[in-house]
Amino acid sequence: MKAEIIAVGTELLLGDILNTNAQFLAQELASLGIEVYYQTVVGDNPQRLEDTIFHAFSRADLIITTGGLGPTEDDLTKETAAKYFGEKLVPDKKALEQIEHFFRRIGRTMTENNIKQAMVPEHNGVVLYNENGTAPGIIIEKNGKMIVMLPGPPKETVPMFLQQVKPYLAQKQEVTFVSRILRVAGVGESAMETLVKDLIDAQTNPTIAPYAKDGEAILRVTAKAKNEAEANRLIDPVAEALKERLGIAVYAEGETDLESVVAELLLQKKATLAVAESCTGGMIASRLVEFPGISRVLLEGCVTYSNEAKMRRLGVKAETLEKYGAVSPETAKEMAEGMARTSGADIALATTGIAGPDGGTAEKPVGLVYIALTHKGQTKVHEYRYAGKRNKIRERAAYQALDWLRKALIYEE
Ligand code: ATP
Repeated sequence: MKAEIIAVGTELLLGDILNTNAQFLAQELASLGIEVYYQTVVGDNPQRLEDTIFHAFSRADLIITTGGLGPTEDDLTKETAAKYFGEKLVPDKKALEQIEHFFRRIGRTMTENNIKQAMVPEHNGVVLYNENGTAPGIIIEKNGKMIVMLPGPPKETVPMFLQQVKPYLAQKQEVTFVSRILRVAGVGESAMETLVKDLIDAQTNPTIAPYAKDGEAILRVTAKAKNEAEANRLIDPVAEALKERLGIAVYAEGETDLESVVAELLLQKKATLAVAESCTGGMIASRLVEFPGISRVLLEGCVTYSNEAKMRRLGVKAETLEKYGAVSPETAKEMAEGMARTSGADIALATTGIAGPDGGTAEKPVGLVYIALTHKGQTKVHEYRYAGKRNKIRERAAYQALDWLRKALIYEE
């Protein structure tokens, strides 16, 4: 089945709103194994809407539209589709009742215009009743062509698609696509790709796609099969081979993030943590605090930005700062040790670095970051050099610190 997505609305053309419906539908259709060859946006103009729908049907079997199902005269998606299929529109009792009920619930009276929303094709139509708004969606199917018309507001479009349209389309598809995501930390996208290139090249079903998202490397393994169980059977050995190759760099599968994995490890091992942050300015603590329940293990976080604070709060020695500077392995080490000592936490993390854009020298350039970790009375310091702007450097350092903590928790029982 070849599909096309048409978003109807002048607001979209003007850039007043973002076409999030198209993104959502494209992802959903891909997961159903339905190929989308074109996406179009058209304003509320009768002639252009008609041209768009008729043209789309010259190259696609399935069209999914969003928007233009409203009560006003310029909402013409349904009328245009009915014209293409040669269908007459007639009032639908249940849709009318639902619209009346919707207005009663929100304490308003229905207008005459809303009757237009309850008009449905006389034949060959499926009405998609709307639990979250007024306009019902409609499916018209005839002579090997199908149009699915959904309302514009995402809070109506998304549930209607998931609850009613997805199962309808799935039963027409002979194959299903299932994807599994492997999340990789501490290895960049291109390095990761090099490490698994032979596995990628050897695979056709499932396919392995490497990509980067929000600063982390991801592998998506996608299988095509008759059903989900069969697809998972195809994915299992490939995911295992990738995990074996990449080892500890694969930190999780599916929808999660590094801070959640670290937080779960801390909770599982009942290890308490305190962080002393200079260049990351609270990012490590903030990311961990996103995880509900972290209060049981995260004791405190300090943003010790000035030399004064590093000395007073963490006990970093004045000589250390004078001799080696605030951005040095020696200072990072004393920060982590001071944090562990004063907080009583099992583990302490510290960061110090030059996030830029100023403050770099030939010897200590922008992007130089030291991260220290104190665990079981031992302190280790690592040096990192990051490229990029101030916030990228800070984000990367915070990410790296969390990843190191993850590895420390796994390796050092
Ligand atoms: P209604 O019955 O609410 O009038 P409709 O089907 O006529 O629905 P539109 O009038 O086209 O929908 O759009 C209503 C609102 O839905 C828009 O103002 C916008 O906020 C949102 N919307 C419309 N299309 C999209 C889209 N493609 N992506 C994201 N949001 C959208």
